Amino acid sequence: MNILVFNSGSSSLRYQLIDTATRAVIVKDYIERIGESETPDFNSAMRRAFAALSSHKIDAIGHRVVHGGANFSSATLVTDKTLAQVESVSHLAPLHNPPNLTGVKACREVMPNLPNVMVFDTAFHMTMPASAYMYAIPQNDYKKHGIRRYGFHGTSHDYVSQECAKLCKSTREKMRIISVHLGNGCSVCAIDKGKSIDTSMGLTPLEGLIMGTRSGDIDPAAIEYIAKAHDFSTAETISYLNKKCGLLGLTGSNDFRDLMTEMDKGNPDATTAFEMVAHRLVKYVGAYITVMNGCDAIIFTGGIGNNIPELRTYVIGKLGYMGAKIDEKENAKYNSKDRFQTGEITGKGSSLRTFAICTNEELSIALQTASVIQ
Ligand code: ADP
Repeated sequence: MNILVFNSGSSSLRYQLIDTATRAVIVKDYIERIGESETPDFNSAMRRAFAALSSHKIDAIGHRVVHGGANFSSATLVTDKTLAQVESVSHLAPLHNPPNLTGVKACREVMPNLPNVMVFDTAFHMTMPASAYMYAIPQNDYKKHGIRRYGFHGTSHDYVSQECAKLCKSTREKMRIISVHLGNGCSVCAIDKGKSIDTSMGLTPLEGLIMGTRSGDIDPAAIEYIAKAHDFSTAETISYLNKKCGLLGLTGSNDFRDLMTEMDKGNPDATTAFEMVAHRLVKYVGAYITVMNGCDAIIFTGGIGNNIPELRTYVIGKLGYMGAKIDEKENAKYNSKDRFQTGEITGKGSSLRTFAICTNEELSIALQTASVIQ
């Protein structure tokens, strides 16, 4: 099948046409500056995209939708009803869901005969037990307002863990896997017998690891202090924690490559930031190993996970107590110059296996879309 995968942002549209049989990308493009004169709205962006694709057969459209709330545990066909259900939880991801759904609606208008499928970043985590997804706040906040942990990056964690099981010549159902996705957003996921049982992002993608521009975990009481110090409203404080913190706040750049360059130059702030990122990550990995009562494989993915050998060395080094070892020669191969490589970096005699795996969320969306409409 030829599946068109759409990722609609606030002013941009990324798309790929993927042949699910061969996994080949047939066409790929990126339309920017939607809302400006050339492409005034999403309908005109869709028309541009479909005009460019007019010589190709398209069987269905798969849309990345960040938040599906608690109702969707897998990819779902778009109908008036499912669309309304997703709209009713969109306040949980106010930056992402509205543009994602604008893309869905534009496709329905511009190409009314093609089926549309929504693939949610949250869906993979709907297997988490209540012990992992509940916050310790009054029950009513969960029941009435949906305030709980949802988790994100599910499409990536799902995809790389399947790839990992294949590389191990096993199936996920027999494995305990920790997936570490480190890109602009970062999250860790504990995957026990193929199911996400805990993940580091929460109600929103702000919780958990230190990220490019997000603080990750922080004492909630600090919010009041930050707001007072800057004379911020609550919304401004949350925006600050999302956009001005993390690596950017610590070092002045949100790019991990800049951090590594500065560290090489001996900049102490860069060294501290690296150690903070690594330390927080190790705490989550250690916790998830314990939660799963052991671990068979650890995966590193995302721009940083795939390309920064020093971070992988740090994490696996801290697991030396349980017999984990890394092969430094293999590890060094998965660096900035070889961005899109997948392979094993397990050391000889290691008690668990370690992989650098290139994620492919678009392919995963295409495969899930195909299975929904088949
Ligand atoms: P996104 O999360 O937006 O999909 P990526 O997965 O590409 O983005 O992750 C972006 C982060 O990965 C940035 O911090 C960037 O520094 C880092 N990164 C991306 N490519 C490389 C590379 N080739 N080498 C080292 N770091 C990289």
